[in-house]
Amino acid sequence: MSLVIVGSVAFDTIETPRGRVDRAIGGSAVYSSMIASRFCEPKLVGVVGEDFTAQHKAILEERGVDIEGLETVSGGRTFFWEGRYGSDPNERDTIVTELNVFESFSPKLPESYLSAGFLFLGNIDPVLQLAVLEQFPVKPVTGIDTMNFWIEGKLDQLRRVLEKADLVFVNDSEARQLSGESNLLSAAESVLAMGPKVVVIKKGEHGAHLFTKGFQFIVPAFPLEDVLDPTGAGDTFAGGFMGYLASAGNMEHGTLKKAMIYGTVSASFTCEKFSVERLENLEIEEITGRYNSLSDITRFDRE
Ligand code: AMP
Repeated sequence: MSLVIVGSVAFDTIETPRGRVDRAIGGSAVYSSMIASRFCEPKLVGVVGEDFTAQHKAILEERGVDIEGLETVSGGRTFFWEGRYGSDPNERDTIVTELNVFESFSPKLPESYLSAGFLFLGNIDPVLQLAVLEQFPVKPVTGIDTMNFWIEGKLDQLRRVLEKADLVFVNDSEARQLSGESNLLSAAESVLAMGPKVVVIKKGEHGAHLFTKGFQFIVPAFPLEDVLDPTGAGDTFAGGFMGYLASAGNMEHGTLKKAMIYGTVSASFTCEKFSVERLENLEIEEITGRYNSLSDITRFDRE
């Protein structure tokens, strides 16, 4: 089944203890669609300025991402984000967020997108997430991601998106911020009460925890010796998760568990290089290789 992905398409300047890149391609929709393309046929919705060239678009097209829904604003500038990490890869400071073309973006989905069975509303203004969701004649299975920037700035609008969502991806601090609960189980319960059937709490290098009513599943992160740049790990997690879900075409517990593993190993690749470099040539065999390794190192017998 096809998967529509909405989110930011960006230029990122990133500094980590392992180096720095300036104005590299990034954004939630870029990371999530590049990985989802290993599982299904993602259709991207987003906006860029004239500074996003044909070569940048080719990076997406070469991965099989449909970019009919990527609007280019003539004379506009692409969304820009700058972040800096210290020694803890789970902590980062946002130095600059320039919305640029996102400020006046009004998404219009191409006809060919409207029959998609799955939708991922990546981290972006919740007003735009809602505007996309409302264009579908039949609501697809919908996953959403968000971040502190929107929880702080547009909570009411975000709550309206949550009411309509089937799945939500948040990191642990966002889950606490959104729910006002410090305990993660209570936070998950409170977010479930806001609407979604599934809540996935991402815990960076400590893995991820999935909750539905009466069911939970925990996965550690895939162990990596060398983390160069954690940017996009959350988007890649959600893209791998939603891409697998769209290929499976259902939301059964067994499918959700597999999606958690695919999301986890997908994110591990992103961290190994700056920007999307590691995703550019990544093939499904490498992903399933890590899937099987993670299975080997986490399996244990019942007493
Ligand atoms: P992640 O590390 O998975 O949280 O995602 C990092 C990506 O999110 C970067 O490529 C940024 O361009 C993008 N990003 C950062 N802030 C925002 C924002 N306020 N809205 C949308 N995308 C953002």
